[in-house]
Amino acid sequence: MSLLNSGWRTLSYHQKRLVRDLLKYQGVRNMSKMREEAYIDGQWVSAKSGKTFPVLNPANGKVIANVPDMNETDAELAVDAAHKAFQTWRNTTAKERSVLLRKWFNLMEENQESLSRLLTAEAGKPLAESRGELMYGSSFLEWFAEEAKRINGEVVCSPARSREMIFIRQPAGVASLITPWNFPNAMITRKAGAALAAGCTCIIKPAEDTPLSAIAMVDLAEQAGIPPGVVNVVTSSRGNTPAIGRVLSTHNKISVLSFTGSTPVGRLLYENCARGIKRVGLELGGNAPFIVFNAADLKTTLEAFMVAKFRNAGQTCISGSRFLIQSGVYDEFVGMIKDAMETRLVVGDGMDNGVNFGPLINQSQLNKVDGLVKASIAAGAECLLGGKPHELGGLFYEPTILTNCAETTPCFEEEIFGPVVGIRKFETEEEALQIANSCDVGLAGYIFTQDVSQAWRVARQLETGMIGINEGLISAAEAAFGGVKQSGIGREGSRHGIEEYSEIKYLCFGGIN
Ligand code: ADP
Repeated sequence: MSLLNSGWRTLSYHQKRLVRDLLKYQGVRNMSKMREEAYIDGQWVSAKSGKTFPVLNPANGKVIANVPDMNETDAELAVDAAHKAFQTWRNTTAKERSVLLRKWFNLMEENQESLSRLLTAEAGKPLAESRGELMYGSSFLEWFAEEAKRINGEVVCSPARSREMIFIRQPAGVASLITPWNFPNAMITRKAGAALAAGCTCIIKPAEDTPLSAIAMVDLAEQAGIPPGVVNVVTSSRGNTPAIGRVLSTHNKISVLSFTGSTPVGRLLYENCARGIKRVGLELGGNAPFIVFNAADLKTTLEAFMVAKFRNAGQTCISGSRFLIQSGVYDEFVGMIKDAMETRLVVGDGMDNGVNFGPLINQSQLNKVDGLVKASIAAGAECLLGGKPHELGGLFYEPTILTNCAETTPCFEEEIFGPVVGIRKFETEEEALQIANSCDVGLAGYIFTQDVSQAWRVARQLETGMIGINEGLISAAEAAFGGVKQSGIGREGSRHGIEEYSEIKYLCFGGIN
């Protein structure tokens, strides 16, 4: 900065802005982790076609990097590489895999700051949140490094004296891992950590908006000594993604597909996998009910509300989505959240100090959020706060409160995936449960009450795979993450996260006399 001091006053507004931007993103540009290549069979490669696509910073629309725009030819090469590597990786010991995963975890920790900056640059989330995601993401590698050693078999009681029955667990094969843009780091480690621990090899297809974190993480996997072909990354633009998705869900060398993303794409991939009877793990959308009872401690509830709703500007599949507030605390709690949203949310570029609310990821996401807000107001919801794109322009959207929502209000019917709080007042516990369960998805739900019986009663009946009880932050490597109904199949994280990557083989020893 000292070089700049002398001439700073002579610069125009636009020149000053350019210099500030350059300084701000210097950490990202300079770091060794900023690669613009994909990774197949231990080689850093371009697309066979030579094509690339740009990765944009959602905070300012500028191009950060250009990465390979791969197609089915590249995807097939990746599948072949992963399949070849599987022939040796499957025979490594759990201890050997554990050591490599631990090394990868250590490198993620050492590079946490540069990976966090890269994450903010491509996903727009505030830097403090990116640091949080890095800790969360890395923790899956640590967890699965430990769990790798506990993928045990079983000896069961045989019905015949002449036989003994044993189940061993073996890796399922090559895994396709297709991940979304909202957690570009953690969604990959949650899948790849489990796959590698079980002895599978994998092909990662990161989201179009956020391929740089995937590339950077795999760079570290290579440095950790994970052998060629065990982890591969295939990047592609929106245009080429369906063709790559077809290869990754139908190729006969693929045994497992794990997908996190939207329900329509999950359904399509599930259909493709059905033809080849492949194992699937699907983590699809939610539409989380956030139920505040009269017996809630409102201060605790407010803190949980802020984190459950505004993490990643509401672009989280477990974000509170449908806010149900009991009549006895309705006015007070709505006043509290309005006040907190007005005074505590600082909107801006996630790289700037103090900002805790970044832009939405892309224009189509902004259009979707704005469209749902407008349609909800047209359907009778009342706008108490926000309700339109933010005056900062670009991809920023105002923190918004819509009251008087009904089950059929668009922002209640469809997961909004943005900073919009749709609220409905209710009278009885039965009514809250009926509204909460009147939905064909069931990922997360939240209950706030100091009445323990009520917490149990409602938790038993709420049709979701996960429930935060007086808690807004439920994710952890130790937790079994997943949904019911159309929110998906299977669980990620916890010891259950390994299940879809391993098969049980039954050995029957006969002729014992
Ligand atoms: P969103 O609408 O939130 O972007 P998507 O389900 O479209 O959610 O994206 C999640 C992931 O699925 C991304 O990696 C995206 O590239 C990928 N994807 C999108 N369409 C397809 C498809 N037809 N086949 C395979 N993957 C896809």
